Amino acid sequence: MRLILLGPPGSGKGTQAQRLIHRYGIVQLSTGEMLRAAVAAQTPVGLKAKDIMASGGLVPDDVVIGIISDRLDQPDAANGFILDGFPRTVPQAEALDALLKKKRLKLDAVIELRVNESALLERVERRAAETRARGEEVRVDDTAEVLIKRLASYRAMTEPLIHYYSERRKLLTVDGMMTIEHVTHEIGRILAAIGASEPQTPKKAARPAARAASRKASKAAKKAPGAARKAKKAASKASSKAPKKGGARKAAKKAPRKAVPSSRKWSAVRGKKAAKKAAKKAKKR
Ligand code: AMP
Repeated sequence: MRLILLGPPGSGKGTQAQRLIHRYGIVQLSTGEMLRAAVAAQTPVGLKAKDIMASGGLVPDDVVIGIISDRLDQPDAANGFILDGFPRTVPQAEALDALLKKKRLKLDAVIELRVNESALLERVERRAAETRARGEEVRVDDTAEVLIKRLASYRAMTEPLIHYYSERRKLLTVDGMMTIEHVTHEIGRILAAIGASEPQTPKKAARPAARAASRKASKAAKKAPGAARKAKKAASKASSKAPKKGGARKAAKKAPRKAVPSSRKWSAVRGKKAAKKAAKKAKKR
């Protein structure tokens, strides 16, 4: 499954992404995290991004598209992924479309977490007050002032993606103001509705057991061909009685909805009909 999580900072994308990766066995690709790692490792990309990130600006499109393209090629992304923090602009979304087309991959859905901005501000202010009350230092980007700036950037640069993906019939909107549990439940529900399935846990040794049984049977057949012939006959008899593939459904369709009268009832019906016919004939005469 390939998803994009869309929503303003503080809307709960990270929390929901964590739950989705566990549920569907896919990876979370967060450009923000990748860039922070590049800055820490002082790679050429990190050196380019460092000052831009510190000022709250957006890293150039070619840089983020490059890191996403490389990341998509890694084996752990083959099972599916959730893009978090990418795309952030329409040109990035267009580049992603081209990239996926080139890699012959299809995007399943874009989940938008819709939240109320004033509630986001309240949330971040409450969190900062709680952190201060514990005597801890408040993160530099976890203040109302920074959030206001980031929200403005989201509205201007990222919100147009809602229209972009809605036009392409990819957008699924979830009310992000519900509790974390409810949001998770709602995302699960809409993904099930578009046919996304959770990975199946492997059936415990069902196949090896069947193979072992068949090996045993063929060994026995070699030892006692007569018994094997008998067993084969019995098996084919059983299979001819058993409903074929889809047979149950076909049978259910064929079965009349009304209760079928028992043979005794049938004969009574037939008898009544015959009596009526005879009475009619007698009248004519
Ligand atoms: P985030 O953790 O998603 O809030 O991202 C942290 C910072 O990384 C942002 O403020 C940007 O400077 C940069 N960044 C992350 N993703 C992108 C992106 N898709 N395009 C441009 N800059 C990005």
